[in-house]
Amino acid sequence: MTGPAPFPEEVAAAIRVRALELGFDAAGITPVSPSAWIDAYRAWVDQGMAGEMGYLSREDAIEKRGNPQLLVPGSRTAIVVARGYSPDGVPASEGVPPERAVFSRYARNEDYHELLRDRLIELQNWISAELAPVNGRAYVDTGAVLERELAVRAGLGWVGRNTMHIRPGRGSYHFLGVILVDLEIPADAPFVEDRCGSCHRCLSACPTGALLGRNETGAPLLDARRCISYLTIELKGPIPRDLRPRIGNRIYGCDICQEVCPHNSPKFVHITREPAFLPRTGVHGAELIELVEMSSEEFSRRFKGSAVKRTKRRGLLRNVAVALGNWGAPEAVPALVKALADEEPLVRGHAAWALGRIAAAEGQAMLRDRLGIEEDAWVRAEIDQALNDLDEQMPGDPVRDKIDSALNEAG
Ligand code: SF4
Ligand code: SF4
Repeated sequence: MTGPAPFPEEVAAAIRVRALELGFDAAGITPVSPSAWIDAYRAWVDQGMAGEMGYLSREDAIEKRGNPQLLVPGSRTAIVVARGYSPDGVPASEGVPPERAVFSRYARNEDYHELLRDRLIELQNWISAELAPVNGRAYVDTGAVLERELAVRAGLGWVGRNTMHIRPGRGSYHFLGVILVDLEIPADAPFVEDRCGSCHRCLSACPTGALLGRNETGAPLLDARRCISYLTIELKGPIPRDLRPRIGNRIYGCDICQEVCPHNSPKFVHITREPAFLPRTGVHGAELIELVEMSSEEFSRRFKGSAVKRTKRRGLLRNVAVALGNWGAPEAVPALVKALADEEPLVRGHAAWALGRIAAAEGQAMLRDRLGIEEDAWVRAEIDQALNDLDEQMPGDPVRDKIDSALNEAG
């Protein structure tokens, strides 16, 4: 490929300094070249492990991930930045009892996409103004870019068995952003170590068995269809029944495989001071009963500008209903009975499942009533199953039992 002469090393240093001034914690530089991970990525998609995430499995998107030059024609360099987002090093479930909601720590305040993209664009504009006119494009989890591979190649760290990018001495609670530019800028040395060593803590701790270890190329494997992050955020329809009990009170994402990682221990974990990432009230730790009663207006108000809006109200209330069922306390029944009449079938069906786990006569009666008027076939099936579950858990109603046995004898 021909093009302007490469810049001297000082230019790369100046870009790193400017990135830090703009609030990024680290920046690395690597040449744009075809992905070495794309075959493993394609195999992962072919095995169906991407679930319903069509944006990951579309053929055109896979090709772009394999060759970033298809995204930005003429791009020669990737500038990769990292930004820490964790407001603390405390495990999410610590201090949050089962009747309260756990949100993944990245989602407790502002949506990071906009914030980081604006800063990446500022960095790109600075390069244009101070170094050379540049044609490029910024990505923060938004395009068909294998950010983690680029981050390794740019020397920023390795990818752990939990599939997260880990920075040595800083841990994994950070976002990655990438700018693809058409300038040739001196690159950093890639990060070649796998500092997971013999550790397998994340695999043992994952409550759904979603982490499958490394494949023959060394890439960590995640069956997204079993991952709580996928189930509570990306999946649009019903959560598989066998996985619901394993979600606990995690209603938006999951950090377990990061929390158990020794590289995120309090000794290392990088705490952010970014105001946009400090938790807002009414999100992490909110009462599940209050959340399941949220109107559309309240959902919009509470999660304005937050990544949580991705699930829409119906997806989040689906998750809250599951969490209430996992809590399993009779105090949850009145709120679940209300949710049984929600306008969204997705919420009604999961509320039925939750009621089926709480042996309470009120819930049982309301499920029977609802069955009389419910029109959605999937919700009806959930109610049927919930009533069966309750029949197994609860002592029979003597009057009803007599009628049933008389009918059996007669018939
Ligand atoms: S995010 Fe949670 S469910 Fe997903 S792999 Fe990690 S521990 Fe397992
Ligand atoms: S928990 Fe252990 S195996 Fe998993 S990512 Fe961290 S160091 Fe690697």
